[in-house]
Amino acid sequence: RAKQDGRNSFRFFAQEMQEHSLRSLQLSAALKDALSNDQFHLVYQPQLSLTDNAIVGAEALLRWEHPEWGAISPAEFIPLAEQNGLIVKIGEWVLQQVATQQKQWLSKGLPEIIVAINISALQFHQQNLVERISNIIQEAGVSPSNIEIELTEAVALKDPEVAGKTIDALSQQGFKVSIDDFGTGYSSMSYLKRFAVHKLKIDQSFIKDIVTDIDDQAIVTAIIQMAHSLHKTTIAEGVETQEQLEFLKEKGCEEIQGYWYSRPLVTEQFEVFLTTNKSNKAVEVSVP
Ligand code: C2E
Ligand code: MG
Ligand code: MG
Ligand code: MG
Repeated sequence: RAKQDGRNSFRFFAQEMQEHSLRSLQLSAALKDALSNDQFHLVYQPQLSLTDNAIVGAEALLRWEHPEWGAISPAEFIPLAEQNGLIVKIGEWVLQQVATQQKQWLSKGLPEIIVAINISALQFHQQNLVERISNIIQEAGVSPSNIEIELTEAVALKDPEVAGKTIDALSQQGFKVSIDDFGTGYSSMSYLKRFAVHKLKIDQSFIKDIVTDIDDQAIVTAIIQMAHSLHKTTIAEGVETQEQLEFLKEKGCEEIQGYWYSRPLVTEQFEVFLTTNKSNKAVEVSVP
């Protein structure tokens, strides 16, 4: 009986593997036409300043809507685009899109905010990255100071010598640079000292249980303190409740991003958010 179960579960496993890789192959192939077929769009997730009780920025997040398969999560397709190299083109499209959008918002007289963009390893380590980014921003007529570049620890530490120079150059040009999913990668503290990084984005896995889990509380408190000692700011990701927000505010975390403040919004919704200033919601927040 046990043997049979084992065989069945192996068969099931093998079948699942096959389906998994088949889907990966299909998605990877479909990605090749996604840009030219206009299947991508961006959503913007507002970021709240806990010191000003106002929106300070937004993160641009990529969405892929396939005509047959529907919405496909970036957690699934970004790694595939990274593998097949398309992420470089896709990443440039994202930047182009964000820059054009920002220019439009400025001409519409909407409040000026910083928009953060995720840069993957392959894109970050390409030749002339800084020049390419600068050109796109300049052509759109947007200031680099309105753009934030998000890198994960893994990206930054892949080749620390080169990464350090690129980050410094970005910073020199006026771009903001932040470390995404902070605390989940190989955390080499020495790079924080050497790299011209402005902000640490505390990973949502530490925020999830922060109200009850004393280990998460200790880690997040330490990250915030360390960031401040190094003259960097912090933003907490995945904040979903008022209790989480209050803990973070009390510890001196400057900004939050998460469903509590807003889900990622399509452009039209985001413009409404910007104009009606939903940050009023946060005015009620007070920490004793
Ligand atoms: P990330 O950069 O860490 O983005 C944050 C993710 O957390 C987003 O998932 C966002 O929708 C989600 N999130 C925000 N607030 C909450 C919350 O309160 N609760 C929960 N449970 N989740 C929340 P999303 O949009 O599915 O993106 C997943 C990842 O895909 C991103 O993680 C990023 O690594 C990658 N990604 C997204 N867009 C791009 C892009 O344009 N380029 C690159 N290279 N990667 C991207
Ligand atoms: Mg990010
Ligand atoms: Mg993140
Ligand atoms: Mg993440």
